[in-house]
Amino acid sequence: MTVEQKVERGLFDEVMVPCYSPMEFIPVKGEGSRLWDQEGKEYIDFAGGIAVSCLGHCHPAAVKALTEQANKVWHLSNVMTNEPALRLAKKLTDLTFAEKVFFANSGAEANEAALKLARRYAADNFGPEKSEIIAFVQGFHGRTFFTVTVGGQSNYSDGFGPKPSDVTHIPYNDIEALKAHMSDKTCAVMMEPLQGEGGIVSPTDEFVQTVRELCDKHNALLIFDEVQTGNGRTGDFYAYQGLGVTPDILSTAKSLGAGFPIGAILTTTDIASHFKVGVHGSTYGGNPLACAVAEAAVNIISQPETLAGVKAREALFRAGLEKIHQKYDIFSEVRGKGLLIGAALNEKWEGRARDVLVAAGKAGLMMLVAGPNVLRFTPSLIIPEQDIAEGLARLDSAIATLV
Ligand SMILES: *Cc1c(COP(=O)(O)O)cnc(C)c1O
Repeated sequence: MTVEQKVERGLFDEVMVPCYSPMEFIPVKGEGSRLWDQEGKEYIDFAGGIAVSCLGHCHPAAVKALTEQANKVWHLSNVMTNEPALRLAKKLTDLTFAEKVFFANSGAEANEAALKLARRYAADNFGPEKSEIIAFVQGFHGRTFFTVTVGGQSNYSDGFGPKPSDVTHIPYNDIEALKAHMSDKTCAVMMEPLQGEGGIVSPTDEFVQTVRELCDKHNALLIFDEVQTGNGRTGDFYAYQGLGVTPDILSTAKSLGAGFPIGAILTTTDIASHFKVGVHGSTYGGNPLACAVAEAAVNIISQPETLAGVKAREALFRAGLEKIHQKYDIFSEVRGKGLLIGAALNEKWEGRARDVLVAAGKAGLMMLVAGPNVLRFTPSLIIPEQDIAEGLARLDSAIATLV
């Protein structure tokens, strides 16, 4: 008989590659929007695993889908198709502009596929000269070398040797800069329809409309990275539906699997036709377990009551954060949409987002930051009202320790 070795946080520093700096506690059990660590201490979850656990932890419908599929078949490879993948793809095309779906395992992989597809589409239709990718300063698209290069934070892409070329970065919401840079050499524009990692920054209506118009004018594809904004996060099933601008390729991941790894790109039949047999692929993409869980998640997320509930919960967060601001004079602005909320610290609190996060952890609240000056909240889309109230009370008490 083997005895499970007792593990502690200290072991991380011994055996893990040091590219993360995890909190001091280790959660071992979750239910709904609450988590418990090894010591049995309880936390309210305002992070949702970075906008992933959209149904909270251990949602019965997700557990049921996972365990039922686990007792049928786990993996087949793309030499065969499988029922959960087909059902999920059908659902995603029914719910969006898209006619075709490609499955990957993460946001970065979905974006990698989107970028390769755009490059192939442009090369096939217009020749190899049409290769410029335009993206935005402070944008985030994942950590593969292509996606990190298209992302707008050079500290994530520098230091790895020569980068994929022909990528241009323009300030988000800067219409004039975009007009000046776009040309018939532009292959695609890749953007988040609300910048997440970059600090919770919404696009102006005029900006997204202009991006769409310029893409049409120059035969460039518009890629929306909805890895963070998608799957109900902003109160629409996908954020593009609330902006009134439709992309040519949409990437999704994070909440799509409600905590199980899956990513996908959605696109049209015409564009998809350029991914002919053998042009792109993935061993695990479309895995039956992942697709079964995602199907269960999408069934719940896409219900009008769920989406309306996101907007109602946003109002509760905004009211609660306003109260905290009244008490501590701490925020310069609360921004974002739905349950992708950023509270920007004012000058007095400059650079202290991580201090708040650590204090919140001690007070029994899990939350996130987006850079040194923005507190970020991306809870479950169905977080109970009393957990929002309790979590905000804990945030209040955490901030009190820092005054
Ligand atoms: C998280 C994120 C990614 C990367 O997703 P991974 O699953 O970590 O690869 C890409 N784009 C956006 C907008 C994200 O928020």
